[in-house]
Amino acid sequence: MSIPMKITRLSTAVIEANYDWVLVRLDAGNGLFGLGEAYMGPGVTAILRELASLVVGMDATRPDVLVRRLRAHTIFASPGVVWHAITGIETACLDLLGKHLGLPVADLLGGACRSRVPLYVDCHAGDALESLSPLLLPRQPSWMRKIAGEAAAGVGSLSETTSLKHHGWDKTGDALPNVEDYRRRAIEMVERGFRTLKFDADIPTPYPSDEYNRSLSRAEIDYVVERLAAVRAAIGPHIALAVDFHWNYNVADACRLIQALEPLDLLWVEDPIPPDAISALGQVQQSTSTPIATGENHFLMADFLALIRDGKVRILCPDAQKIGLSHTRDVGRLADFHATALALHNICGPVGLMAAAHTAAAIPNCLVLEWHGASVPFYEDLLAEGPLIESGGIAIRARPGLGITLNESVAEKYSKPGEPFFD
Ligand SMILES: [Mg+2]
Repeated sequence: MSIPMKITRLSTAVIEANYDWVLVRLDAGNGLFGLGEAYMGPGVTAILRELASLVVGMDATRPDVLVRRLRAHTIFASPGVVWHAITGIETACLDLLGKHLGLPVADLLGGACRSRVPLYVDCHAGDALESLSPLLLPRQPSWMRKIAGEAAAGVGSLSETTSLKHHGWDKTGDALPNVEDYRRRAIEMVERGFRTLKFDADIPTPYPSDEYNRSLSRAEIDYVVERLAAVRAAIGPHIALAVDFHWNYNVADACRLIQALEPLDLLWVEDPIPPDAISALGQVQQSTSTPIATGENHFLMADFLALIRDGKVRILCPDAQKIGLSHTRDVGRLADFHATALALHNICGPVGLMAAAHTAAAIPNCLVLEWHGASVPFYEDLLAEGPLIESGGIAIRARPGLGITLNESVAEKYSKPGEPFFD
């Protein structure tokens, strides 16, 4: 056993981006510190502050013990947002331990199977920054309000925000994105180097629709297929294309839409029906040759096993920042035993993305990792190491821990008002 490395302090900071990026810092008595990111959620920083009293004094050389103890002490509240918080702590602990031992986090998770993790980019359509609060309510980030205010007062420029490239819906626009918008967005992302794209299939249409009964009319199906077919035609047969249904449909209409999309040779269809309808998911998978993917809303190993056995799912999509890095690696092993692949869900900032990349590198049967940050103007400025994403992937460098250095002045500039900044 290593000589213990006592954790002396837990602190947090929140970056206000397309979502809240909740950063966790653990300081050790030997002067080292580790950085992690917790999946956002209501109250997650309050939970982290409460967990600090348990974490301080624990041994950072035993991250699995730390996670087990934190889960044991919060058993009435988990899984869910408490697990998000624990993962932020686990990630910071692994970064700290990696720095201590001079090993990359991927090595602590069993060793990297690949030196570069391919990303898939979430494409959507539209042109403005879409930012959501932890309650998934639309918001304008405070830094954007400040820039707009300075521009209005003649002391600054709006160009910093208006020149943003974005992959979310433009809520201020009148018209729905058309076929040409989809085509352009797909080509833009291929030109940026991505070899796997994902578009939403649950898009607004001009046709009347019931928000709650999970149905799709023929007109809605044709509208969606026309746009996604334009994407396939634009990118050709050798760029991989996936689509996300976001749990919106009933079994019958999910099957109708998937069958209508079959000529597009999709890499996967994600979350066609509600996440808990696991055996019904098996019916959907058996109706099509297109692989069904799901898992971003599941936490427990028993659920992932049920998704494989009863849901017949071909691709599991756990989110490492929700369920934990080591747990995600273990889900990978479970899936590998069943000859099932993984595509990791991820909507975090660069710290969480890097942690997920180390995890993806250590999972042999991982296909690809999500990148959800194309709309955030400072995404690549937050870390001192320079471009994180190159040619549609992330290199796993032979550097200790996560191999990253937070650019604190950039982080503070975009930090969330009312939240501590590593205070
Ligand atoms: Mg999804």
